[in-house]
Amino acid sequence: MKPEILAPVGSKEALIAAIYSGADGVYLGASRFNARQNATNFGDNDLSEAILFCKQHGVKCYLTLNILIKDQELEEALNLSRFAFNAGIDAVIVQDLGLAAMLKENIPQLTLHGSTQLSVHSPAALSVLKELGFKRVVPARELSRNELKDICNEASRLGMEVEAFIHGALCMSLSGQCYFSAHLGGRSANRGLCAGTCRLPFSAKGGTEYDLSLKDLSLINKAKELSDIGVASFKIEGRMKKAEYVAAAVSTLRSVVDTGSAPKEAFETLEQVFSRSGFTDGYFSHTLGKSMFGVRTEQDKITSDEVLKRLHGLYRRPFQRIPLDFKITIKAGAPLTLTANCQGLEITQTANPPEKAMNFSITKERIENSLSKLGGTPYFINKIQIDLDEGLSIPSSVLNNLRKNVIFELDRQRTITTTPTVPNITYAPTLKKKKIRGWFLRFNSIEQIPSIKELKLPLTGYSLPAEELVAAKDIPMLLGANNSGLLPTAELPRGATDDNTTILLLNKLKEKGINAVVAGNIATVKLALEKGFCVFGGFGLNLFNNQALKTISRIGVFKGVISAELSLKETEYLSFNGFETYMFCYGRFPLMLTRNCPGKNGIGCSAQGKCEITDRKDEHFPLICRNGFCEILNSRPTNIADNTNSISCDGAYFYFTTEEKNEVFEILKGFISKKITSEKYTRGLSKNGVL
Ligand SMILES: [Zn+2]
Repeated sequence: MKPEILAPVGSKEALIAAIYSGADGVYLGASRFNARQNATNFGDNDLSEAILFCKQHGVKCYLTLNILIKDQELEEALNLSRFAFNAGIDAVIVQDLGLAAMLKENIPQLTLHGSTQLSVHSPAALSVLKELGFKRVVPARELSRNELKDICNEASRLGMEVEAFIHGALCMSLSGQCYFSAHLGGRSANRGLCAGTCRLPFSAKGGTEYDLSLKDLSLINKAKELSDIGVASFKIEGRMKKAEYVAAAVSTLRSVVDTGSAPKEAFETLEQVFSRSGFTDGYFSHTLGKSMFGVRTEQDKITSDEVLKRLHGLYRRPFQRIPLDFKITIKAGAPLTLTANCQGLEITQTANPPEKAMNFSITKERIENSLSKLGGTPYFINKIQIDLDEGLSIPSSVLNNLRKNVIFELDRQRTITTTPTVPNITYAPTLKKKKIRGWFLRFNSIEQIPSIKELKLPLTGYSLPAEELVAAKDIPMLLGANNSGLLPTAELPRGATDDNTTILLLNKLKEKGINAVVAGNIATVKLALEKGFCVFGGFGLNLFNNQALKTISRIGVFKGVISAELSLKETEYLSFNGFETYMFCYGRFPLMLTRNCPGKNGIGCSAQGKCEITDRKDEHFPLICRNGFCEILNSRPTNIADNTNSISCDGAYFYFTTEEKNEVFEILKGFISKKITSEKYTRGLSKNGVL
């Protein structure tokens, strides 16, 4: 089967451009709840029209609902999905685990696609998503060819599909793991409001001015390879882009998929219409580093009118993608009948019997010409069967009208929605005030752990990176809440593309007597549970609403950190008793998780937390690199020591990264006396949350 060409649509014009230049599917956002809130998007009426337009043209239409949803928004998001389902949407693309579970419950026939915002980067995540009802998954853009192939193999085993990005912008951070824009000004990338932080000036020591700006991805010339490894859908990024851009990308890809290649000029046009100093395939070919970075230069911004005009030409008429068989019967004395067979439908229309020819009889050739006039429709002739008596005459207008009537009726029947209408869905979240009963401390290294005996902390757990624990000679023990010795919890890496490596790590932890892990990715959650570990959910799971807590607890996770993008007030919605919630109360929040260490653009990446990038205000953001992934930490730690009474969670989560031992001690002391001891700090998003 040919892979699907999936085009981004941020406006009506882009919709036409995508479909007319040959897309097999489009994805678009409604007026709310999608990852491109700044695109024009589609209101209710526009959405119905767009879905109908797609159906008429034999093109799939997917709705993006790919953001985290607040409890008080769930009802609206559910009903938006319901509206789209009733209008005939083919699937919705979802990030939020709570929303996904509620959709499955309320609209079981709705097809769910897992957004790239779910940070799927290893095969183990897929069985979890399948259980949650997902049919398709969009893996992270950061994967190499072999890693993507492993995911495709697992998808095929489970009867799922893989949709992979083939062209368009690359984020610096793994999607779903970027909190930079949110922490800078409350505009969350997980809520469709990314301010494009990675395009701002950030420099590594000895690096460039823009060390977070990656070139755009293009794998269009590797379409065959992608298809061979099992990618079912080729996704083009760019719902904020112009219609011309969409047309250029779709038509080039169309040509490559259909004929194996595209003219050189098509690729040149693609670069002219939008690029950042050219394109990259660095992740796919696994050649990371400096060459992947680029910004939009003045030269890049010059797109000539001539190019734009040429691109307009790509979407003047509908792409004829739907095969059609005609059968016409022309007999003396009998009504003229034309039958179309198309996609399992049979449409027949009739006209008055033909007349005897005075001079010239109608020929098969003329009939064929007349019936083949399907320009302006999505159909092309597959076969024409003509049953014609000699010596008859039919005016051209009669044949044309007959053809038009058949097409009209065919259009109508093809676009009827047959699924039952889902009625209004109600959902009312409940508020409940919880109180902090325990603390969980996360350390980055053993050396960082102070003696805390005298502080008598209400400790329920503490963690160290799994690799630190595996390498440690002596496993440190801290004193827990009721004076019992606590074993450390092992923090699994959030970036873990190879399940076998994770399994080996888990085995080593078992040998060391460790029985609990922090896991911030669906795949590592799954692998750890399978090995019998007790799992503490990491912030990477983006637990954003009460339904997400219920969903993750059904998988087997009963405690963890909730999303650090929730305000204190919003934590009151997380009322579910079956999950112990922890609030991120202290620490340099990891703003990005990236596979391309920006430090390498400069003097290099070496000591843990000693590398950094700086912005124009001379804020310093430390980098921590482990296992081929780099975390970019906030320049200032979040600290809400003076506000812990307002937190509606079961526990407080402390995240130590670059702090020295004595600093850790002072901070903990500060939290006991509810005083902020950090010199520079931020309240994170605790006050206002995110938009
Ligand atoms: Zn690094």
